[in-house]
Amino acid sequence: MGEMNVAIIGAGIGGLTAAIALHQRGVDVAVYEKARELRELGAGVVIGANGARVYERLGLLDSLGAIAGKLSDATMQTWQGVPLPGYRWVYPLGRTFPMHRAEFQNLLVSALPPGTVRLGHEFTGAAQDAGGVRIDFADGSHARTDALVGADGIHSAVQPLVGPKSAPVSEGIMAYRGLIPADRLAGIYDVGALSMWVGPRQSFLVFPVSDGALLNVVAFVPTNLDVEESWSAPGQVSDLAAAYDGWDTPVRGIIGAMDHTFRWGIYDRAPMPTWSTDRITLLGDAAHAVTPHLGQGANQSVEDAITLAVLLRDARAADIPARLRRYEGLRIERNRQVREGAREAGKLYRSTGLSPARQAERIMATYDSLELNTYDPEHIADTALATL
Ligand SMILES: Cc1cc2nc3c(=O)[nH]c(=O)nc-3n(C[C@H](O)[C@H](O)[C@H](O)COP(=O)(O)OP(=O)(O)OC[C@H]3O[C@@H](n4cnc5c(N)ncnc54)[C@H](O)[C@@H]3O)c2cc1C
Repeated sequence: MGEMNVAIIGAGIGGLTAAIALHQRGVDVAVYEKARELRELGAGVVIGANGARVYERLGLLDSLGAIAGKLSDATMQTWQGVPLPGYRWVYPLGRTFPMHRAEFQNLLVSALPPGTVRLGHEFTGAAQDAGGVRIDFADGSHARTDALVGADGIHSAVQPLVGPKSAPVSEGIMAYRGLIPADRLAGIYDVGALSMWVGPRQSFLVFPVSDGALLNVVAFVPTNLDVEESWSAPGQVSDLAAAYDGWDTPVRGIIGAMDHTFRWGIYDRAPMPTWSTDRITLLGDAAHAVTPHLGQGANQSVEDAITLAVLLRDARAADIPARLRRYEGLRIERNRQVREGAREAGKLYRSTGLSPARQAERIMATYDSLELNTYDPEHIADTALATL
């Protein structure tokens, strides 16, 4: 115990969750983050049943519950407001935690010992040698570690160290995002509900965050622009309103209550055949970005995080290469399936020509194929570790 140390690049949801899970298993862990302070522009993220199982075992589920929006309902309807017959939300409502991303990230930081997250450290390169890995930062400083984990997002600087550079792939759509104070929506929309409206070529999603004080809006529209995957590319509310002209009354009312919006390009990446070397591996979006249509980007990084932490439990430095290979082996196929499922779900939401009942049936079949309510990455990793 405590014999090995792990350095994680990136204090996103994936990197922080891995740090918590490793720390709880006695591993000496440090997280290096390029930002000087952890401050995200407002946006929501949903932790579903598969991520919730992991946080429950990490002892954090009550804390998540305190900041999450409490869902009264989860519905899907056509763009004209007709409920999809037989539709059932992917998770039980009580296992759905819609959160403000910055609040969630701060909660994860506070679950770590002070000093674990080292801000203002931009990773620029690393070199493996017999004794471990030397890490280089933009300010000229260095660190040493037994194992390096790149959890540095879709534009990962660590990824090219483990294989050919894997570029983000656009889905030909972008999303407008925004947050609206709940008190502005009286008479327009019941803020307790998660709702999605689906229509030809576009879809509109809302859910409560910040314990119900804010409604998070994500509106997907086609684009041929190469919108940067930024939280902060500003968009025009008037363009958003024009894109949803003629849609169901609450959709237009919600857009009418928005002051500003941000545009966000929707990307994923082709699966990589491998993402580890002897002492360097990847996690989260750095390893396998997915489109957001199943809300699985963060949840997959959480599955990765617990898998990696279990496999590094009680490892000696000499064990690391085999442990990292096993981790990658457990995650690659799972991530590939979730990426396919997310793409399929997005197509179904924006499809034309399916009856609403058939649309619901196919969306739910996509949910079910991924076993999001029963998949237990910790158990799978425990079993794998026992047979190493
Ligand atoms: C707008 C939006 C909405 C989303 N909604 C959902 C949702 O509802 N449900 C869901 O499951 N997923 C959602 N996702 C996806 C989800 O946020 C990500 O998949 C998830 O957070 C995993 O990200 P990550 O931790 O791998 O990387 P990121 O969150 O991208 O974090 C990477 C971190 O690495 C840091 N970094 C980058 N480069 C360097 C460097 N060179 N040196 C040091 N640090 C570096 C970055 O500053 C950042 O803090 C959403 C994503 C976006 C953008």
